[in-house]
Amino acid sequence: MTAERLTPERPATAESPARAGFPAPDDWTEPGAYLVADGVYRIPLPLPNDGLRAINVYAIVQDPPADSADSGPGLVLVDGGWTLEESEQALVRALGTFGAGLVDIRRFLVTHAHRDHYTQAVAIRRRFGTRVGLGIGEKSTLEVFTKPGRQALHEQVALLRRYGAGELGALVEANAGTPSPTARDDWAMPDEWFDGPTRIDLGLRTLSGVPTPGHTKGHFVFIDDDAGLMFSGDHVLPHITPSIGLEAAPAALPLGSFLDSLRLVRSMPDRRMLPAHGPASPSVHTRADELLEFHRLRLDATEAVVRGGADTAYAVAKILRWTRRERHFRDLDLMNQRLATSETGAHLDLLAAQDRLHRREDDDHVLRYRPVGGAADSPVL
Ligand SMILES: [Zn+2]
Repeated sequence: MTAERLTPERPATAESPARAGFPAPDDWTEPGAYLVADGVYRIPLPLPNDGLRAINVYAIVQDPPADSADSGPGLVLVDGGWTLEESEQALVRALGTFGAGLVDIRRFLVTHAHRDHYTQAVAIRRRFGTRVGLGIGEKSTLEVFTKPGRQALHEQVALLRRYGAGELGALVEANAGTPSPTARDDWAMPDEWFDGPTRIDLGLRTLSGVPTPGHTKGHFVFIDDDAGLMFSGDHVLPHITPSIGLEAAPAALPLGSFLDSLRLVRSMPDRRMLPAHGPASPSVHTRADELLEFHRLRLDATEAVVRGGADTAYAVAKILRWTRRERHFRDLDLMNQRLATSETGAHLDLLAAQDRLHRREDDDHVLRYRPVGGAADSPVL
């Protein structure tokens, strides 16, 4: 119904009311191409059977080369979407609203190697030779995904066991044989690796690629300084707290990296936030502050639960409440129980690194945590 429309979303900047009167749709997942800044379209693509519901890719329009009167606009896409039939159809329809097609995409700048951001970029590259760029921190994850004979979810199951959730790991393994849309995933190495802060010259505009590890090890945000925009990927999201360390080869302290990366974007000039999930919003800083505060409180709550006697990530996760609706762990589905367990483990590991908890690995390779300053801290004589 609305797939074909081209709707300017909101003013390009808070100071520029020229586009006021074109409000964002009530539902940010509604298909279409929404102008969010001069020459930048937000294009939501569907994620069926996924709680996130949709992913925004951003199309940056470059002028056609002067010597080719019949060529369409050259596009650079931030993120690629998940390689699904309906996702590609939605992308084709959205690009068509401003006279472009898949063949016009010159380059993908991918924020990180999660399937909903990366795999469709690889699939389109196979057909059109599009160039794909990704942060080098994602290399170890892609090496796992592209290894022949890889056992699905092996690394995540091993992590669940370390966090005391062997029973969840067994459930994940039991379900691993079930056919799922992920079977369509397309994993391959990119054409270029972004290694450290990277200047990306697009001709009409220059972006800065900034490493923001945490959500994944190689996550990047892309900044258009002149236009005051940050393509924030999953690093800063408007409605949810990004999952931490959900990757095949997680970092040792993903939450520590994530909080450092939030402080990094907080130390930069504030910019309009163009996130991968959710509507565009005026300020990266506002949301970064909320996320920092959320995790400060979450670290305190996690420490308190350990003081109450819970000693594994799994045990702590079952006591904490989840989502903005304060749900019980037992009411979450398997995927979200996995996320809750690894998220809790990330908080516990950071507390241990900050010397707020003790951590030891048992003979059964389960990580156990206990409070600092309790009776158990007495010197052994
Ligand atoms: Zn992600």
